[in-house]
Amino acid sequence: MLALEITQLQKTYASGLIALKGIDLEVQQGDFFALLGPNGAGKSTCIGIISGLVNKSDGEIRIFNHSIDSDFLIARSKLGSVPQEFNFNTFEPVDEIIINQAGYYGVPARIARRETEHYLKLLGLWDQRHSQSRQLSGGMKRRLMIARALVHKPRLLILDEPTAGVDIELRRSMWKFLEQINEQGTTIILTTHYLEEAERMCRNVAIIDEGKIIQNSSMASLLSQLKSETFVLYLRDELEVAPRLESFYNVTRVNHRSIEVEVPEHHSINDLIRELEGQKIVVERMRNKVNRLEELFIKMTSGRATSSKSSDRESL
Ligand code: ADP
Repeated sequence: MLALEITQLQKTYASGLIALKGIDLEVQQGDFFALLGPNGAGKSTCIGIISGLVNKSDGEIRIFNHSIDSDFLIARSKLGSVPQEFNFNTFEPVDEIIINQAGYYGVPARIARRETEHYLKLLGLWDQRHSQSRQLSGGMKRRLMIARALVHKPRLLILDEPTAGVDIELRRSMWKFLEQINEQGTTIILTTHYLEEAERMCRNVAIIDEGKIIQNSSMASLLSQLKSETFVLYLRDELEVAPRLESFYNVTRVNHRSIEVEVPEHHSINDLIRELEGQKIVVERMRNKVNRLEELFIKMTSGRATSSKSSDRESL
């Protein structure tokens, strides 16, 4: 069963800008799916249309086989959405925001209160339940958005940059939370700048660029397309110039004790270390310059406005 089926989705904004140029996308029930792309690719527009926040220009969207046009109420009941911008009343208490949302979906008050307690506890917001939402930290507001999206128990949860602007610890716990609800049966579609986590967590992926889908496959088969990986090597001794390495590409000296080397798939790291040792260059440590998905992503989108933030690993 398909959780989401998008056919020839098009969006032209009033300004004349064509944000989506006919997108087709299928997401299976139970999937953990990443929608990736550089800034301005059309991800938020796409999610906004699915969530009913943006009007489409053309095309069709079905959620668990219910059209968002002809079957709007049923389609909407199956969907929970977490937009990028906080869009709750900041003067309203936290618990009321969620209880009221449940009301919009026709959840009876007693069940709404029970579910609100469940999700507030699960997302670590129970102690703040009587606070006005404007008093919450950024990370808490984001968790509140997620609790609100889940209160009517949607089968499909769509999140636009759920971990943007939250600290590393919270980011990790949020991914873990999403993994758990996915294991319990909720289909998840998200956009993210954090390609390292996307690589680890998402089973399937679509890459959107300039309003078109340029890649749609399993994460594993996407990563298998990677023809080379770039490594940063930390050297024992200082180097004046980058070494000449016949079998490797783009050998560059980063500073006096580190170099970057692109290793093609038909060569191993052992080959590289051996070749360096032949030149009396000793490698002390090494790491991937960027994670594999990021490397592929940059190549596919020609490095345009790179969407990755995995380089903030450096500051961990
Ligand atoms: P992404 O989420 O991938 O960064 P968006 O969907 O936000 O991309 O934007 C896609 C394109 O549509 C961009 O060129 C953006 O400037 C434009 N766009 C987004 N929202 C609007 C709007 N309300 N009016 C006009 N253009 C918009």
